[in-house]
Amino acid sequence: MVSGATLDPTRPPGPGDLAVTVLGCSGTYAGPDNACSGYLVRGGGTTVLLDAGPGTLSSLQHHVRPTTLDAVVVSHSHPDHWGDVPVMRNALHYVLGHSGVPLYSTAETLGYLESVFPDGIGDAFLPEVISDGSELSIGALRLRCSRTAHPPETLGIRVDLDRRSIAYSADTGPAWSLGELGAGIDIGICEATWRDADGFQVDDLHMTAGQAGRLARADGVARLVVTHVPPTGSWDLTVAEASDAYGSAVERARIHHTYVV
Ligand SMILES: [Zn+2]
Repeated sequence: MVSGATLDPTRPPGPGDLAVTVLGCSGTYAGPDNACSGYLVRGGGTTVLLDAGPGTLSSLQHHVRPTTLDAVVVSHSHPDHWGDVPVMRNALHYVLGHSGVPLYSTAETLGYLESVFPDGIGDAFLPEVISDGSELSIGALRLRCSRTAHPPETLGIRVDLDRRSIAYSADTGPAWSLGELGAGIDIGICEATWRDADGFQVDDLHMTAGQAGRLARADGVARLVVTHVPPTGSWDLTVAEASDAYGSAVERARIHHTYVV
């Protein structure tokens, strides 16, 4: 674990950084100024997009060219996590003349994506099925997957570069936590769809902010960033509840902000 991780929302990551840039963090549907789930992970000269919800292709272009992606990884079959993949396919195929981007996801999700087009997803992407326990090497980055507690097969994803790590919960209830992806997580990006005050307690659907904070603390996550708050929710109340449970300050995911380990 590396201590002293810093948040610098303005500068692009340096060549030695492991960094995640939020391209969208709105839960279930996009808000007026926020796309759905999408996280651009960069490190060691490798660029990977985790989830590609509606609006994330637009956000991505503020940071990198779509043709520079080394891979796209989609956590599960809910469309707020993959809605821009077919649009990205058309951009790559018809406009940008780019092909062969590895596309990793669950079998169910890839099936949906293949069914969008009469001739399948074509040559823009190279689909490959991943599942619980899958490990990938994408350029300099190593990825590990763990099945979360969410109705369709959903994969939490950990990215490691050297001794630094970022872990992303995707969608999950509190029957799963980031610790399932191993110890020594420097930045944990954890969903907090609800708050304890909402009265929802569903082990295998979504977390409250309090649950996200308590679990991250128990797992020894060094720095917690909460995400996946729907447009009807309150980021301020989410951060307050999560921070109280975590025992120190929790950050909120912010679109276009970069979190550097
Ligand atoms: Zn979901």
